[in-house]
Amino acid sequence: MEELLLKRSKESLNEMIDLLKILLAVNSYTLDSDEVNKVVDIMENRIGSLGFTTVRHSSEGHADCLEAFSGREGDVMLIGHTDMAQTLTGSESHEMAGGRIVCPGAGDMKGGLVTLCYALKVLKDLDMLPRNIKIILSSDEEQASPFSKKYIMDSAKNAKLCLSVEPARANGAVVIARKGGTYFTLKVKGRSAHSGVEPEKGISAAEELAHKTLLLHKLLDPRAGITVNVGYLNAGTTLGNAIAGQGTAKIDVKYWTPEQGKETVEEIIKICSVSSVPGTTLSLEQHPGFQPMMDTPQTFKLLECVKQSGERLGIQVKSVKTGGEGDAGFCSAAGIPVICGMGPVAGLLHSPEEYLETESLWERTALLAQSLIIINKGLHDSE
Ligand SMILES: [Zn+2]
Repeated sequence: MEELLLKRSKESLNEMIDLLKILLAVNSYTLDSDEVNKVVDIMENRIGSLGFTTVRHSSEGHADCLEAFSGREGDVMLIGHTDMAQTLTGSESHEMAGGRIVCPGAGDMKGGLVTLCYALKVLKDLDMLPRNIKIILSSDEEQASPFSKKYIMDSAKNAKLCLSVEPARANGAVVIARKGGTYFTLKVKGRSAHSGVEPEKGISAAEELAHKTLLLHKLLDPRAGITVNVGYLNAGTTLGNAIAGQGTAKIDVKYWTPEQGKETVEEIIKICSVSSVPGTTLSLEQHPGFQPMMDTPQTFKLLECVKQSGERLGIQVKSVKTGGEGDAGFCSAAGIPVICGMGPVAGLLHSPEEYLETESLWERTALLAQSLIIINKGLHDSE
């Protein structure tokens, strides 16, 4: 069977590259819902042609979240996303040099979408497509899935496990844990005044923000993996010749566990509820973020299935934990184990030089297909 999977996957490489180029030609920047919907159309068509039932969840101002299932309610969840972090300039060549395809979106994660389609196609052609697969493709993952999150979490509650086709790391490793995170905007109001003539009439928002930045950065705990970073600061006017009457800071927070997240968020709210400079007023807004994807004992069991699949195919599967967040965290929060990074090997993500290792397209297709076989066998045996 392994030989056949490898053979069929390898034979599909040219078709896979063709599909990848079709996807790469779409400028599916996450804030452009019309363009993202073009990727959704292509994926709905491809997955539908494999016999999956597809459902599109729509809402004004958002691209559609695509859901698909191969038969009865999905025990095995496959997730990915149809949006991308960058916008195309129009000068992209989808250059194939040194065994790589270079283009924004190639790794994160149009290559993974191709892998998903072909792993399922290879299984269907061999009459081995499991009837318990549920696919969810987020349309707004690069914004922390404010729209698609609900559908991911609802599905995860009814599933037993999840594989995510985000790209494998540049060294080929799959991902077993991701940090969670959240973001805040802190606005400070003071009072502006001429800084030379009557500074005593002013209340400095800049000074307040300086205090807050120092206090917030004290929450940093690199050993525990908690980061708190004021990554943007702005106060006063461009000329800078007045006491700053207002200012803004943006705060980025990352952590490994929900408990760390809860405690850190509480601390931030506490710090930002008291003025250090008398007379300033503060308002803090929290934005959507990802939940952490945790490496539980179930995760290691699932990893073992993927590793075994790799061994059978001659692919060595390494694993890492990463500080970057993703939709996989929502599945983890819903209580199921996830292996992320099941897509092709890629690097320099979110940069104009983003690339994908071309051969890994068919290798990871075979790995995903083989993993689905082994996982299903495990699920049946335990029933
Ligand atoms: Zn991604």
